Amino acid sequence: MCRWFDSGPSHFSFNLLISTSEMYSTRLSILFVLLLIFSSCTENEENMVTDESTIDTTLVGKHGRLEAKGNQIVDKHGNPMSLAGNSFFWSNDNWGGERYYKSEVVSWLKSDWNSTIVRAAMGVEDPGGYIDNKNGNKNRIKTIVEAAIEEGIYVIIDWHSHHAEDYQDEAIEFFQEIATLYGENDHIIYELYNEPLDISWSNTIKPYALAVTAAIREIDPDNLIVVGTPEWSQRIDLAAADPIVGYENIAYTLHFYTTYHHQWLRDRANSALQSGIPIFVTEWGSIGYSLVDPEANEWMNWCFANKIIHCNWSVNDKEEEWSILIPGASTIGGWNDNELTEAGKLAKNIISNWPVVVH
Ligand code: MG
Repeated sequence: MCRWFDSGPSHFSFNLLISTSEMYSTRLSILFVLLLIFSSCTENEENMVTDESTIDTTLVGKHGRLEAKGNQIVDKHGNPMSLAGNSFFWSNDNWGGERYYKSEVVSWLKSDWNSTIVRAAMGVEDPGGYIDNKNGNKNRIKTIVEAAIEEGIYVIIDWHSHHAEDYQDEAIEFFQEIATLYGENDHIIYELYNEPLDISWSNTIKPYALAVTAAIREIDPDNLIVVGTPEWSQRIDLAAADPIVGYENIAYTLHFYTTYHHQWLRDRANSALQSGIPIFVTEWGSIGYSLVDPEANEWMNWCFANKIIHCNWSVNDKEEEWSILIPGASTIGGWNDNELTEAGKLAKNIISNWPVVVH
């Protein structure tokens, strides 16, 4: 014991030193391995985060490109989509509504109104429109389109004209540029002609729509195209009797304003649906100046029952019955209820409570 004790310490110490050294070495090896594992895990986690971040969880990411299927507009899973949102006012220079063509307004409509679709309404032939100022109007449209893409909601690019057949070359040039810029985005919907007047569907509107559709399809083979119908987009029956053939993914416009358009127009629209064409309400307006609008209820029940997409006219503070904002309301969103007109409060109530997918 003594001997071991006597002779031991140096040996012990030596052994201890060797042992400590080995232990450090082992620990360093373990530490190194752990570091490798940790580093690998971190890398995997980073990859996982990257993978997750590439999964688009926005509305459009989940539902994809809209598609006309029979008399319905469906998402990429084949479920009927019944979106509710807002139309901007004419984009024309100095008409007032152009002040609201801002990304902040799109963000606000999405977050505060639960809007799932917006419509950029580019004025064409009227003063201050696209013909007068191409870049100014086009840039407003692009602002709304890019904001909608950023927010992951749908956006209509509307050729807001009453005489589009007189500007077919300009329409083709414009929509080809838009298709080139945004045609691969599922968010995009082309609206070729806001409200034709009392002109022929088969001899005037349809040939125009075919020419512009052909030009778009050269670049974008698949995004939804919506075509206006005669008499301010109320003669949906005329389109139903002679629909566009030869191209996929076409829907037809119906507009209603509850002051003027009642059951007789719903009856007409029902017949059109029964004949098999899909209907898209790119614009509707309430009676205005009132929160009580039984006709708006009738129309909204009809839209709900038939799974129709609709946009409320319009995001503006002009003193007219359909404006959602009181004069002077902020042009960057953030509106409290005191800045909404009665029509605006009614529209907000409808849009913010609208289900995205109606089963
Ligand atoms: Mg496309």
